[in-house]
Amino acid sequence: MEYQSPIDYRTVFNALPGANALVLPDSPVFTIVASSDEFAAFAGALKSDLTGNSLFKFFPDNSDPPNVSDDVRVSLAICISTRKKNELAVQRYDIANSDGTFSEMYWSVIHTPILNSAGEISHIIHTAINVTERILSNIKDEKIRSLEPAHNLFMQSAIAIHILKGPDLIITLANEPTLKIWDTDKSVIGKPFHEVHSSILQDYIDIINNVRLTGISYRGYEYAITLRRNGRNEVAYFNLVLQPYYDFGQTVPNGVMVIATEVTEMYNSRKEMIEKERSLELAIAIAGLGVFNIDFRSGLVSLSPQIMEWLGVDQKQLPLNELLKKIHPDDLVSVSDMLDILEKEQTGKRHDLVFRAQNPKTAEWQHLRSIGQVQLENGEPVALLGIIQDITSSVQSTQQLEQHAQRLKSFIDSAPFPIGVYIGREMRIEMANKSILDIWGRSSVSIGQCFADVLPELKGQGIYEQLDRVYITGEPFHAHHSRVDLLDEGGGVRQFYFNYSFTPLFNVNGEIYGVISTAADVTDLVMIQKALSESERNFRLMIMQAPVAMCLLREPSHIVEMANEKMINLWGKSADEVMNKPVFEGLPDAKEQGLEQLLTHVYDTGEMIQSNERPVNLIRFGKLELRYMDFVYQAYRDGNEKVIGVLAIAMDVTEQVVARFKIEEMVTDRTQELELTNLSLQKSNAELEQFAYIASHDLQEPLRKINMFTGMLQGSLDGTNEKAETLISNIGISVNRMTNLIRDVLSFSQLSRMEDETSERMDLVEILADAIADFDLMMEEKKAVVTQHGLPIVDAIPLQMVQLFHNLISNALKYSRPGVAPEIEISGEKLPIVDALQLGLCEISGTYYKITFRDNGIGFSQEYAAKIFNIFQRLHSRGQYEGTGIGLAICKKIVENHHGTIYATGIEGEGSEFVVVLPERQPT
Ligand code: ADP
Repeated sequence: MEYQSPIDYRTVFNALPGANALVLPDSPVFTIVASSDEFAAFAGALKSDLTGNSLFKFFPDNSDPPNVSDDVRVSLAICISTRKKNELAVQRYDIANSDGTFSEMYWSVIHTPILNSAGEISHIIHTAINVTERILSNIKDEKIRSLEPAHNLFMQSAIAIHILKGPDLIITLANEPTLKIWDTDKSVIGKPFHEVHSSILQDYIDIINNVRLTGISYRGYEYAITLRRNGRNEVAYFNLVLQPYYDFGQTVPNGVMVIATEVTEMYNSRKEMIEKERSLELAIAIAGLGVFNIDFRSGLVSLSPQIMEWLGVDQKQLPLNELLKKIHPDDLVSVSDMLDILEKEQTGKRHDLVFRAQNPKTAEWQHLRSIGQVQLENGEPVALLGIIQDITSSVQSTQQLEQHAQRLKSFIDSAPFPIGVYIGREMRIEMANKSILDIWGRSSVSIGQCFADVLPELKGQGIYEQLDRVYITGEPFHAHHSRVDLLDEGGGVRQFYFNYSFTPLFNVNGEIYGVISTAADVTDLVMIQKALSESERNFRLMIMQAPVAMCLLREPSHIVEMANEKMINLWGKSADEVMNKPVFEGLPDAKEQGLEQLLTHVYDTGEMIQSNERPVNLIRFGKLELRYMDFVYQAYRDGNEKVIGVLAIAMDVTEQVVARFKIEEMVTDRTQELELTNLSLQKSNAELEQFAYIASHDLQEPLRKINMFTGMLQGSLDGTNEKAETLISNIGISVNRMTNLIRDVLSFSQLSRMEDETSERMDLVEILADAIADFDLMMEEKKAVVTQHGLPIVDAIPLQMVQLFHNLISNALKYSRPGVAPEIEISGEKLPIVDALQLGLCEISGTYYKITFRDNGIGFSQEYAAKIFNIFQRLHSRGQYEGTGIGLAICKKIVENHHGTIYATGIEGEGSEFVVVLPERQPT
């Protein structure tokens, strides 16, 4: 019995996965013998309708993709021939929907042979498994995979890309650069655009929506969008492309893809550049600049109107040579040299040079400054582009300034008062003139040295501090009569007094940059003032302590400012009565005696008045007295030599005057007596002289007779009467002496008569020669030596002068020491005027000579020095030395006749000196 399986194979078949149909291997029909429900469903037919029909009846070929059924046939054929399961690659086979459309479907088709016991294929199971879902998802993955690189590109792009979707413009994609531009992070993804960017204007939103709705792209260039960045609203500029965005498989855009590049920086810098350019143009216009361009290749110069005006040319373009003609000949070389250099340089060198060109209107030379740069093309200089500026006024003002500064500098240098300029708080010496250097005791300082280094000795004198205070506060400092001790270069301290000022120096910004020091050396003044006040003090002291009466009367009304006790006593008043009031108010009794006039005269003219023994009537201590005063009224002056008072010095000489009056009375009486005596004396003198003359003259005659008779008497003797001969010889000696005496008396008395003889210029050397001629023998005998030097030429009466010399030399020879050869020295020299005055020789003004006769004889006692000039006065007995005692008297007379004087000095046993003083000239 055939095993009867409890299983209904149809149900199993039905439950197999996929859509299954059991077909006969009756190629090409492949008749369906059984089918599953799923298969029936896909075939769109009932199972009963399927059985007995061809497999391909229900799955006809559809156009897309083509020939699927061919592939199925191939698979069936393979399955039959190989008797093995054959699986087709996944096939797309779209299944028709009820509405006539097709659904995209993918199938995996497997043909499994069923073999009978003979090994032959009895049936084939056709299994179609719906793999649409899997395939589709695979496709999607694949698509996504293929999209990934693009996505990455988007996300990592340097360009900002974002996608805004739907009416709310939800941010569905925003790459890093976008987030950076927005200054946000990923959290914005999924949020509406306007929510994230509240600052963005509706205009832009409208543009986005327009793209979204119309599908028409938008391009924006330097589009301004206000963004909230860095905590504030900023306008940023973008180059934009807005593209419609389609969802996968959609034909209607659902959003907008925005591709943006931020160009804010570029925009701003361009804007800035434009502004710069504009302001440059403006600056050139305002600065009154001209622009030029020299084309090296063509040799042509293009000029802006301003330059045309300056140079007086009417063409905008002209050859360079033409232009050079306008340049000052002295500047031409430098300009063309500069052009030559620039034309050869390959570095695009700049130039900056000033030249002069004549102003066509004013014919004045204007100073033009040219600044420019060479333009290079392929490293070759092709043109010179530059600007020209008229700097005439600045050059002139610079010149003026320089002149001014120069003048100022030389003024400061040569200023007679000290000036120094110190810069900075450390007080660096910028300038120090000669005067200040003199005061500093420095021959020079180097500019830039610090004040304190140059004058370290000022430390502790407060000066650094004063300078610093001026620098800090800006307030000037003035010192008056201030003492400053400075060192000289030798290190010695010098004391000065100055009036000095430290004045701050401000720059144009009003900031202090230094201090100027000016000073006046008032050392002398201060010293004088000190001395003055000292002398004023001394003066007062002097008045108060003076041994004579003194007072100081001030002002024209002669107010008694000072009066010492002696003066007050002289006035015979109390101090209260006279002090500090006009003098004639305190001393009304002194009025109207001529004193007012004297005082006023001194006050008005400044002349001194001296009055001696002036009688003044005064009421002294209540009693009217006549006093005699010696006084001096002297002007009292202030520092400017202006008379401000009168200094009166008085001496009460009443007693002396009264006494003198008495003496004078006596003297007058006596003088009268004397005059009478003198007259009779003169008379008797004259008579005496007359007598002496007559006597000596007349006596000569009888004496000659006595001499003669004595001679005769001696001749008559025969030589036997010795006694008589002795007597006669004695008579001879006496006669001789008498002769000498008479001769001397005669010559003395003659001298008086010779008073009126006229003098001549006489060389005393010659006089001496005459005088010693007589002494030849005696000198030889005594071995005497006479020397002379310095004897002058004077006015003299020749005979008298010879006699003077004769007598003095004669005495010198005579009064020589026994056994000692006489040495006689006669010398002449000028006598100082003081000595002449001391000798009482004031009769003749002019030169006096002192002639000295010095000998080494016996000398004499000084007590007799004056006596020996008296007539007949002798110091030695006749037995010792012959003489009459008249010689020196004659000398004295002669010297006096010549308005001179004679005196002698002697030392006993050593020698004598006779000095004759004579004027060079005798009165005519
Ligand atoms: P005499 O020479 O005739 O005596 P003088 O008048 O010449 O008279 O001199 C007066 C006196 O002065 C002399 O007697 C003598 O004593 C003294 N005497 C004059 N000259 C000199 C002399 N050179 N040396 C010393 N004594 C002198």
